[in-house]
Amino acid sequence: MDFRLTPEQDARKKEFYRVCKELYDKKPASYSGIESKNHIDECWDFHRFCAREYGKRGWLTFGWPAEYGGAGDMMDKVLFSEAVGYFGLPGVDEFGVAMLAPTLLAAASEEIKKKFLPGIASGETMWCELWSEPNAGSDLAGLTTTAIKKGDEYIVNGQKTWNTSAHRADWAFGVYRNDPQAPKHKNLTFLLCDMKSPGITVKGIPYMDGSHIYNEVYMDDVHIPANQIVGKDGGGWAVVNVLAGFERSNIGLVYGLLSAIEHLVAYCNETKRNGVLLSKDPIIRNRISDLATGLEAVRTLALHIADQQSRHEMGLMDAAAVKVFSSELMEKMAQISTDLLGPYGQVSHSKFAKMNGNWESMYQTCFVPIVSMGTNEIQRNIIAWYGLGLPRMK
Ligand SMILES: Cc1cc2nc3c(=O)[nH]c(=O)nc-3n(C[C@H](O)[C@H](O)[C@H](O)COP(=O)(O)OP(=O)(O)OC[C@H]3O[C@@H](n4cnc5c(N)ncnc54)[C@H](O)[C@@H]3O)c2cc1C
Repeated sequence: MDFRLTPEQDARKKEFYRVCKELYDKKPASYSGIESKNHIDECWDFHRFCAREYGKRGWLTFGWPAEYGGAGDMMDKVLFSEAVGYFGLPGVDEFGVAMLAPTLLAAASEEIKKKFLPGIASGETMWCELWSEPNAGSDLAGLTTTAIKKGDEYIVNGQKTWNTSAHRADWAFGVYRNDPQAPKHKNLTFLLCDMKSPGITVKGIPYMDGSHIYNEVYMDDVHIPANQIVGKDGGGWAVVNVLAGFERSNIGLVYGLLSAIEHLVAYCNETKRNGVLLSKDPIIRNRISDLATGLEAVRTLALHIADQQSRHEMGLMDAAAVKVFSSELMEKMAQISTDLLGPYGQVSHSKFAKMNGNWESMYQTCFVPIVSMGTNEIQRNIIAWYGLGLPRMK
């Protein structure tokens, strides 16, 4: 197998890196990684600015059919994700671009595609996900927020939780029960909702480092036009499964690790302990090589996913496998680097902080992808059942 890029792909990659470097040089001083966009106003403005910059170049529509404004293929998407991840830039709305757009292309009516895809393509509209509830996470189909149809509207009542960016987003995609008496996986409905709709209250859930990223969303007689449905009335579970595949196989996460490992190697090459460079310690070399090997494996997985998506053949197991592997690699990287840094790994806003204090924040946030998008235990069940054909436990 030949992993080399064609000359055209190589030129595209250079262009992505060049533009991303220019954007990186414009980031506000308070910007400390993509999650800071949710917490700090000027970082959110920077997120929107980057989104528009990508949008005007057509870089948010890779892999879309030409009739909806698609530009470029899935390989462009991989190379672009790599450049964005390398510089740790915001601007690619993980909910709108990475999850909802491919779901609309696969499952929505023409009316919905025409109404909502342009805002995602231009980087103007930001989205959030209203799925989980206090008593429905892994068992999402057990959700109780209702969307009862009355005339040409659904009236929504209930509570969602853990909703990333809900205090910032313009629109939300959500799943609701349209008949509370019906069996669990039936009568769920997938609706698109304007976050400015009357009856929506967003309340922050402070993260352990004090930042505002996650939210509870209360919905009290919220009116959603019935034509904002994706899929069929009562057919929301099928749409949830399509979207979950795109959510879990989102390869953007992986590329943030590329520059992280470079920084770690540079630190080991210039830092001495007991008079010896860290990079000469065989145990440290071994642990970093292990990380680098994992990173190469996950890059190959990302190429595999891009290939599968371009042929519309991505299976449940592929998405689950890339989610488990990349999230656990991120956790391992945070653990190894904070081990290496010792007490310096525990400070961020201090003159003693190393590498901008990024590892302290990575250590605190690395478990997020392990739990969110469906926990890794659930993904392992999916791999066992659908990928390997192992029996389900009682
Ligand atoms: C930081 C963060 C961001 C999130 N962002 C969003 C968002 O934007 N939008 C949204 O809708 N949701 C979001 N979520 C919610 C997320 O999807 C759920 O937390 C997740 O699905 C787990 O559900 P739960 O928290 O209810 O845990 P539970 O389902 O109660 O699980 C508790 C534990 O039991 C285990 N478990 C449960 N069932 C099984 C089983 N059958 N087999 C083996 N183990 C099992 C789980 O793996 C877990 O360890 C986010 C969560 C977090 C932590």
